[in-house]
Amino acid sequence: MRFLITGGAGFLGSHLTDALLERGDEVTILDVASDLKVRHHLPHPRFRFVRDSILNREILDGLISWCDVVYHLAAVVGVEHYVGDPYQVLNVNVNGTQNVLTTAFKAHKKVVFSSSSEVYGRSAVVPFREDGDRVLGSTQIDRWCYSTSKAVGEHFCFAYQRLGLPVVVLRYFNVYGPRLDTMDVGRVVTIFLGQLMRGVPLTVIGTGEQTRCFTYVEDATRATVAAGVKKEAIGKIINVGSDEEVSVKQLAILMNRLFGSTSPVSFVSQESVYGPSYEDIPRRVPDIRRMRETLGVTPKVRLEEGLKLTIEWFRKNGQLR
Ligand code: UDP
Repeated sequence: MRFLITGGAGFLGSHLTDALLERGDEVTILDVASDLKVRHHLPHPRFRFVRDSILNREILDGLISWCDVVYHLAAVVGVEHYVGDPYQVLNVNVNGTQNVLTTAFKAHKKVVFSSSSEVYGRSAVVPFREDGDRVLGSTQIDRWCYSTSKAVGEHFCFAYQRLGLPVVVLRYFNVYGPRLDTMDVGRVVTIFLGQLMRGVPLTVIGTGEQTRCFTYVEDATRATVAAGVKKEAIGKIINVGSDEEVSVKQLAILMNRLFGSTSPVSFVSQESVYGPSYEDIPRRVPDIRRMRETLGVTPKVRLEEGLKLTIEWFRKNGQLR
């Protein structure tokens, strides 16, 4: 099959590219980022990298006509952007998604939209079910712009579905693994890794009692591939996550042990890191029945094993900022 992956040069997109090429498919990536994470595929005869934006309608037109299925992963993602540049988050995630869907609609090509567990906000009804409520704070709190942008993307998907477009919405839960951001920046796993490499204290924000279900990238990739190829997934929202809930404090202790370090944990206030306009999510746990039943995918890699593989990869390949 022929797949277009917008944002394919990113963390998840690069693993998806590996998996699709391995299956024997053809892959074109459209991404504004450098080819760093997919450079190993550049000579591959079934691979193409187009360095441009989803805001460029002409390029999108050509690439979507070529493919069978669009994986729309391109987005501005990361807490640092939600609070640092909400305009860019909204512009790319809302207008870019509309471009992708409009173009796919004209060409009648299935779209798999990468949404996020952020959509649930700080709902207290755990585990989060795909048909559950969203609970968000005020629009004057910038951190909600990302959640809102992804929810708008989902609404666009279902609006186009009513017009006949086949769509699948995937909500990812804290995916991690090799090629995640540069150490020191981005997600908590890479921030802790940078701190472990430098031998400085691990910065746990707030009480550290907040929980997440970290999802190893290989499991997330299997679910993503299945969403693109399985007919049963069409028209559905599906959580992509693990059901292994861990607090951020436990994560710090576990990563310390696996790294073979005794770096102390230092508790820092939310405000000192993200400024006054921030709210954390106290518990984020997915209901993964649909992932199992519709996609046929059960997470296989336990947190301890996934962190070991991640630490190993970053020790060999990672760079500190
Ligand atoms: N976090 C932390 N220390 C850090 C960075 C993040 O304790 O240096 C916490 C953050 O407050 C959140 C969790 O780790 O509760 C996961 O953060 P991340 O940015 O990786 O993803 P999120 O789940 O917030 O989207």
